[in-house]
Amino acid sequence: MMLEILKKMFEVTPERSTIVLKEKCSACECEVQINITPTSGGYGLNGGALFESSTDEYSAICAACYKANQKNNRKKV
Ligand SMILES: [Zn+2]
Repeated sequence: MMLEILKKMFEVTPERSTIVLKEKCSACECEVQINITPTSGGYGLNGGALFESSTDEYSAICAACYKANQKNNRKKV
């Protein structure tokens, strides 16, 4: 579950309030920087989105592809 992956990230770096991930967008292959901050209801992602991947723990997607993806497919990533 994505939430558990994020939880793990914060467990290994508990001193950080924001985790910055630099990933490659799995859709358009651009560089995507995602800022993750804990919120009261879970985690807030800025700059892009993460989704579970069958090959890795997660894949990243940039904000533009995320938006396009939402239009085509209402499934939340
Ligand atoms: Zn992209």
